[in-house]
Amino acid sequence: MEYVVGVDVGATRTRIGFFTKGRELVHVDSFETPREGGDAITREIVYRLTSLSSRIGGRVAAVGVGTIGPLDIVRGRVVRAPNVRTGSFELKEPIEEALRVPTYVVNDCVAAAWGEYLVGAGRGSSNVVYVTLSTGIGGGAVVDGHLLLGKDGNAHEIGHVVLDYSGRFVCGCGGPGHWEGIASGANIPRTAGIVAREWSEPGTVAYRRALEGRLSPEELFEYWYSGDPFAGHLVNFLAEVNAAGIASAANVYDPEVLTVGGSIALRNPRFFELIVKSVEKYLVCRAPRITLTPLGENAVLVGAAMVAVSPPPNLARIQGGRR
Ligand SMILES: [Zn+2]
Repeated sequence: MEYVVGVDVGATRTRIGFFTKGRELVHVDSFETPREGGDAITREIVYRLTSLSSRIGGRVAAVGVGTIGPLDIVRGRVVRAPNVRTGSFELKEPIEEALRVPTYVVNDCVAAAWGEYLVGAGRGSSNVVYVTLSTGIGGGAVVDGHLLLGKDGNAHEIGHVVLDYSGRFVCGCGGPGHWEGIASGANIPRTAGIVAREWSEPGTVAYRRALEGRLSPEELFEYWYSGDPFAGHLVNFLAEVNAAGIASAANVYDPEVLTVGGSIALRNPRFFELIVKSVEKYLVCRAPRITLTPLGENAVLVGAAMVAVSPPPNLARIQGGRR
């Protein structure tokens, strides 16, 4: 049996998926991304990949990796950024050396966009945008059938578009008013605190948790479902921010399909519906079809495997052929 392997390298968890050439996911390994970062991440991925492929048997034809960034796409590695705990680490070269198969490395949302375009919600469309609403916020885009990469593989860091000028919200990257700095899962507790201090109506349970800076996204949505007025106010505020961000992505890329993944969206379909309702008033382009990703939590994993199965020509030019 011949397999294609997809790897989803996240800030907290990494997953490895073995797919048959018929694109069926037959085995998944999931583990905590080593907290010490750097080389430890590379070592763990290579160790897991080699031991899995010998345990499963058969032949691995190619590996695709979708990873947290920022990237150095020429070398196929992650480079240090001030707001990334994991530091720098190699991916392409050590995986290729260990498995002796072609290996491609792209940003995680870029992988997901390619997966959506080939086998997901964007199948049959030439213009597809993927957005993740998760611990962080990011995106990927296929425009006229062409996967956008950028000079270092860091095109469309759309989580860092500026959506607020008031100076109240500061992103993890240090920038003021970024979409991710306001509405990502990691930043919701802090945003909740800021919104709570501006709340003039009677305090509620969610309001008090927010003032303490301890209102997690999970709690927020639970309080919202149970009718807490402050939670409702905050959810409406976050839906508006996400709608403005999603509409901005659509205005920039003019997609036929805009597909949304990430745990915040996937686990809260009612919240997603609220966002979609607000998108239209921010659009200048003809409205795209906006949908939750049919690939669910596997969007990056499937996308990474699809990058290995059918590498986009521009990526093949940069990373094609083993070194
Ligand atoms: Zn930022």
